[in-house]
Amino acid sequence: MSEKRSEVSQFGEFGLIKRISNQVNLQNKSSLTGIGDDAAVIQANGEKVILLSTDMLVEGIHFDLAYTPIRHLGYKAVAVNVSDIAAMNGVPEQITVSLDVSNRFSVEAIDELYAGILSACENYKVDLVGGDTTSSVSGLIISISILGKASPEKVAYRSGAKINDIICVTGDLGAAYMGLQVLEREKQVFLTDAEMQPDLEKYEYIVGRILKPEARMDIVYEFEELKIKPTSMIDVSDGLASDLLHISEMSGLGVRIMEDRIPIDTLTFETAIEFNLDPITCALNGGEDYELLFTVAQNDFEKIKNHPDIHVIGFMHANKNQNVMITKQETVVPLRAQGWDHFKSGKLKA
Ligand code: ADP
Ligand code: MG
Repeated sequence: MSEKRSEVSQFGEFGLIKRISNQVNLQNKSSLTGIGDDAAVIQANGEKVILLSTDMLVEGIHFDLAYTPIRHLGYKAVAVNVSDIAAMNGVPEQITVSLDVSNRFSVEAIDELYAGILSACENYKVDLVGGDTTSSVSGLIISISILGKASPEKVAYRSGAKINDIICVTGDLGAAYMGLQVLEREKQVFLTDAEMQPDLEKYEYIVGRILKPEARMDIVYEFEELKIKPTSMIDVSDGLASDLLHISEMSGLGVRIMEDRIPIDTLTFETAIEFNLDPITCALNGGEDYELLFTVAQNDFEKIKNHPDIHVIGFMHANKNQNVMITKQETVVPLRAQGWDHFKSGKLKA
C-alpha cells in the first residue's frame, strides 16, 4: 500500500464500484456477467441462467428506526433485492440474510424484522435458505443476497438498448423521496415537542412508498404474457436521471425523454410544492422508487401503449453524449446524475 490516501467521498458510490470492478478478472466460464448490472449472471447446468445479487441496508444511512417500523424494514430489505432480479427480467427463488445486530435489539424486535422478511418471501415466492448473524458495536445492518433464474435469451441487461427503442417506466416516480421528506419533518417536530403526534394519514401513499416499497415482479410476469422482451432494463433505485444514464453508458447510446411524460402521483406533486421543491426534480433525482425503467423495440409499442401502469417517456438515439430532457416549454436540458449518493450526503441536492 502506498502512502496516498484518497477519500471514498471523492469517488462516490459509482466511482468506487468502477474502481473495484477494474481490479476484478472473472476466472470461471460460468460467470457470464460480473459486476456492473443489477445482478450477476451465472451459467447453470440446465437451460436457465442464475441471477445473483446482494444489497445491504445500514442503520443511520439507509434507514432511521425513529420512524421505520422494523417489520417494514424486513419487508423492504427483501423487496429491494427482488427488485434487482426483476430488473434482469428474472424470477427470484432464494435469499440468504446476514444480520449485524447490537444488543440494543431484543429478540422480539428481531422476530418483528423476520415477520417482515418472511411476509415478503411469501409475497414474492422466495425461500429464505440461510444467512449469518454477528453482533455489532452499534446499530443494525441487514445484508441480503438473492438468487433468481431466467432463460438466457430473456435476460435484460443495462447494455441492450438499441437506436429508436422506446424508453418506458412503470408506476410513478419521486413518491418515496417525498415520503422521506415528510418523515424527516415529522421527526424534527417530534424532537422539539414529544407531545406532538405526527399526522401522517394524509401522506399515507408516499410514506408507504419509502417504508414498504414493492418490487415490480407483476410487470416481469406481464412481459412473459405479452411476449415482450425489454431490450434493456434497470430498477429505479438511485433516481430516474441517474438510472437512465446507466442505460445510456452501458448501451453506448443517448436518451431523450419528455418532461410531460414523466409519471408523478398527485400527492407527490402537491407535497413537493408544499416543501418548495420542484416535482420534476424529485421525480428525476429522488431515489428508492423501485419502479422498472426499460426499453422496448418500436414493434412492441402496440403491446404496451394501453397499459395503465407502463408509461412511455422517451426514446434512444445515436449520440451517447446527448442525454436530455425536453421540458414542457420545449427547451432541451441535459440529464445529470444527482441521485442518492450515500457517500456524499445521503440527501438529494435539488
Ligand atoms: P443496484 O443499485 O442495482 O443494487 P449497485 O449500483 O449497488 O446496483 O451496483 C452496481 C454493480 O456493482 C452490481 O453489479 C454490484 O454487484 C456491483 N458492486 C457494488 N458494490 C460492490 C463492491 N463493493 N464490490 C464489488 N462489486 C460491487
Ligand atoms: Mg438495481
